[in-house]
Amino acid sequence: MQRKKAVVDAAIARADQDQGLLLVLTGNGKGKSSSAFGMMARALGHGMRIGVAQFVKGRSDTGEEIFFRRQPAVVWHVLGEGFTWKTQDLSRDTETGRRAWAVAREMLHDPSLGLIVLDELTYPLRHGWLELDTVLTDLSSRPSMQHVVITGRGAPTALCDAADTVTELRDIKHAFRAGIRAQRGIDL
Ligand code: ATP
Ligand code: MG
Repeated sequence: MQRKKAVVDAAIARADQDQGLLLVLTGNGKGKSSSAFGMMARALGHGMRIGVAQFVKGRSDTGEEIFFRRQPAVVWHVLGEGFTWKTQDLSRDTETGRRAWAVAREMLHDPSLGLIVLDELTYPLRHGWLELDTVLTDLSSRPSMQHVVITGRGAPTALCDAADTVTELRDIKHAFRAGIRAQRGIDL
């Protein structure tokens, strides 16, 4: 125990750098978006300004959207609003991807935003509606102290390679499969 503590203490002492982090939360298990929203609460507590872009609008009545839209330090963009993905027309979906990414890019150029959440970004990436290279280029040229959290299933390998912290959430069990619908405060 003592030896273990010494090793951990030494590792903590060695980690003395500060940097804007790129985090990827992926996998089929529940907890990707809600983890990102948890980090938003932390960042708000420290007085940081936050930008959110939701690339897929699952539903309009989520508690997080209601709560965070009330926070003056949060800008919340829904990029599925006013247009839909998957029109069965690749050129239209690519145009949607381009317009959606332009909003995210603007946030990635704003050094006053300490944290940016790109929720469900993996969805347009996986379907080829958004170029991974474009995304990686803009991520790498963002302000050096800006943190970015990306969520969504099936994160591309190159995105995980570029990230500093990657977590894969594994689905062991989900109440939905027992016939329980999405519960307020837990699922939405
Ligand atoms: P959450 O927002 O709860 O953190 P998530 O971001 O990991 O979930 P999404 O794929 O974005 O997962 O799906 C969001 C919704 O789908 C939530 O209501 C969540 O409870 C539900 N969900 C997530 N994973 C599963 C699963 N493996 N099986 C069934 N429902 C799921
Ligand atoms: Mg999610």
